[in-house]
Amino acid sequence: MINGKTRLYGIIGNPVGHSLSPIIHNAAFQALGLNKVYVPLPVTDLKKGLTGIRALGFHGISVTVPYKEEVITFIDTVEPVAQNIGAVNTLLVENNAKIQGFNTDWIGANRALQEKMSLQGSRVLLVGAGGAARAIGFGLQEAGAEVILANRTVEKAATLGKKLGCRYLGLEKLDSVKADALINATSVGMEPHIENSPVSPKFLDQFTVVMDIVYAPRKTRLLKDAQAAGCQVIDGLAMLLNQAVAQFELWTGKKAPVSVMRKALLDALQ
Ligand code: NAP
Repeated sequence: MINGKTRLYGIIGNPVGHSLSPIIHNAAFQALGLNKVYVPLPVTDLKKGLTGIRALGFHGISVTVPYKEEVITFIDTVEPVAQNIGAVNTLLVENNAKIQGFNTDWIGANRALQEKMSLQGSRVLLVGAGGAARAIGFGLQEAGAEVILANRTVEKAATLGKKLGCRYLGLEKLDSVKADALINATSVGMEPHIENSPVSPKFLDQFTVVMDIVYAPRKTRLLKDAQAAGCQVIDGLAMLLNQAVAQFELWTGKKAPVSVMRKALLDALQ
């Protein structure tokens, strides 16, 4: 029940109406009987929005498109990996004042992968060079994996590849790569273009694990092809869920009720 002691959490972005985060986090708060509530906060002026968050006593905030990069300029501290990534998706507000920034997208991707493989010493082919690929690339290196980056626009692969200090190539050169895992961090295969895949099925049988971060549809063309090629597959919900789990743990200091959060997410997507 919401009362005078309820702690406030929310998501800032524009738009936020489609976000699944309120459903996942409120389910977790309720499951643990925590006097907390998580609300959508559509923000058109980020600086004023953050002033409001401080003034109103919010304790934890998720940050989504288009503010993940810009928010860094308005907060007090940024943890080192988020600083390297250049994007923050999680804020922790202390005593209505100091705002600390974190990135849990890379933690979500790492935890999803670690359910199927060990990252330390592995080699991962990361397809994509946008915001999600940047977070995943730095996160993989954080966990001791070697990253090889491939992107349709090779200039963008070069820009990110140089930041990561890793090998990079165009999508058409994938046959020259050997790796333990492949991650699709592009939007290829997303609804409504569900028959598209960024990678030809003939390259897939060499990978032990194939992960797609696209989650609509849940079973993408890439994952169907990878399963047919004998790979272990991980869908995009695993990263989405695990980044929220990491946020919950950061905000509450408690172990997240992962199965409750997964069920809330799956129910919302039906
Ligand atoms: P972004 O910054 O716009 O980057 C888009 C990427 O997709 C670029 O690498 C782009 O390549 C590539 N791409 C787009 N259309 C392509 C095509 N037809 N052929 C080949 N490559 C193509 O987007 P983002 O924020 O990184 O997000 C990427 C995807 O990840 C989205 O579908 C998003 O919903 C999903 N996502 C999922 C999670 C999760 O938790 N599961 C989290 C974040 C994002 P070019 O550089 O050549 O344009």
